[in-house]
Amino acid sequence: METYDYIVIGGGSGGIASANRAGMHGAKVLLIEGHKIGGTCVNVGCVPKKVMWQASDMLEMMNRDAKSYGIDVEVKGLDFQGLVERREKYIDFLHTAYHRGLDSNHVTYLEGHAKFVNETTVEVAGIEYTAPNILIATGGHASGMKIPGGEYAIDSNGFFELTELPQKVVVLGAGYIAAELSGVLHGLGAEVHWAYRKERPLRTFDKMLQEGLVEIYEQAGLHLHSRSVAAKIEKHEDEYTVFFENGESLTANCVIFAGGRKANIKGLGLDKTQVALDERGFIKVDKFQNTTQKGIYAIGDVIGKVDLTPVAIAAGRRLSERLFNGQEKLFLDYDLIPTVIFTHPPIATIGLTEEDAWAKYGEQEVKIYQSKFTPMYFALNEHRQKAMMKLVCVGPEEKIVGLHGIGIGVDEMLQGFAVAIKMGATKADFDNTVAIHPTGSEEFVTMR
Ligand code: FAD
Ligand code: NDP
Repeated sequence: METYDYIVIGGGSGGIASANRAGMHGAKVLLIEGHKIGGTCVNVGCVPKKVMWQASDMLEMMNRDAKSYGIDVEVKGLDFQGLVERREKYIDFLHTAYHRGLDSNHVTYLEGHAKFVNETTVEVAGIEYTAPNILIATGGHASGMKIPGGEYAIDSNGFFELTELPQKVVVLGAGYIAAELSGVLHGLGAEVHWAYRKERPLRTFDKMLQEGLVEIYEQAGLHLHSRSVAAKIEKHEDEYTVFFENGESLTANCVIFAGGRKANIKGLGLDKTQVALDERGFIKVDKFQNTTQKGIYAIGDVIGKVDLTPVAIAAGRRLSERLFNGQEKLFLDYDLIPTVIFTHPPIATIGLTEEDAWAKYGEQEVKIYQSKFTPMYFALNEHRQKAMMKLVCVGPEEKIVGLHGIGIGVDEMLQGFAVAIKMGATKADFDNTVAIHPTGSEEFVTMR
């Protein structure tokens, strides 16, 4: 049996980061990956999504905005298959880079599906490997659509398998993925019908963002269907019809469903350990990423806390610092994590929504600063897309506990503001910072 200091199960964002950091500190590390190195983010998540978002954004810019600046541009078409091929080539390049990184940190890479034999041993293809420290970083997968004909709906993995742009698409779901794919497909030229169960999508986000996205998407020509619960899907030749509980139906060439994710724990042999799951089926951990089994840890989407790549990476690196570099007290603080939804335009958000701040501090303690404007990008344009920004402040010192924005460029604005907010910035700190003109970000430091 081969013995290691650290075995990492899952070569995605979190697993690779943790394995590399442990290797950097001299640990003997084995990284086991059952599918493709890079995991969800690189192969079927952030990376291909951002490529498609950028393509969609460029097309929108050329079709919608270029003429307003006097640019005589004619888009002759979109080579969708060529775009997909170049995207996949870029992903292959990233695979090579990841392998180079692992090699330079002396991490042993093993391809295969790992399962626990006992609390210190895993088996891959009949061979056993043992270590006193084992990390579960196996990620998650899309929840299926549990209605008759639900199997006809593709998930985000299926979206990345498309080699042709569907003419008409129904998108079901109300979170990050449904919002992003609706925008991407619309920008690329598909007729998009986005149907969600409640009054608005993105229900856990600030109301300004929910309402802003609905307003902007409708103005852009997407078809939004609120209060639409899918009851069944039928296939007729190359078309699919989604029937809703409210009696409506939609027929399209493609149906996409994105309704959250589940932990990848199937076949992992957790029953051979004392690792416990929470009530939603994710692995239970404490703030140090310890599971309920000593010597076994879990990070990333498999714990179902904040499913974002930088979160998995940060947790994985901190864990390795703690285990292999003597930083015994180190853990990831899950509070105030900035995040961007790559809609058209993007959404950027950190901290509490207005409603959550009321609930936590009481309405009297909360002061809201808000701004709605047309970014200068659209100054010469007939299409005057709005931007909306909000600061949620509490107490007499007006500490900023939430910052939210939707509008062109907010995706690249958020990171710097997140540093300030994590450091405890107040509204006065923002006011004391001289604006950069003419930009959209200056709104955040000039709100009255
Ligand atoms: P993963 O990256 O999923 O890696 C887990 C790995 O474990 C997989 O490669 C899997 O094959 C492997 N594995 C599973 N079981 C076993 C086993 N038993 N043995 C061996 N290997 C196993 N996040 C962002 O921050 N920004 C974005 O823009 C963004 N966009 C996204 C878009 C989409 C469509 C999706 C689905 C997700 C997106 N995310 C984004 C979320 C992000 O991809 C995840 O949070 C991140 O990949 C989680 O990393 P992880 O290491 O926990 O798991
Ligand atoms: P989300 O958790 O973002 O949203 C899922 C939503 O879909 C639910 O909140 C629910 O909203 C709705 N829903 C759930 N079940 C059904 C159903 N049966 N029928 C119709 N609607 C349903 O999940 P996603 O799958 O969109 O994304 C998964 C995670 O991946 C995200 O939470 C995020 O962490 C990560 N991600 C991050 C991205 C980024 O950083 N830019 C991009 C993409 C994904 P309601 O109850 O209102 O109907």
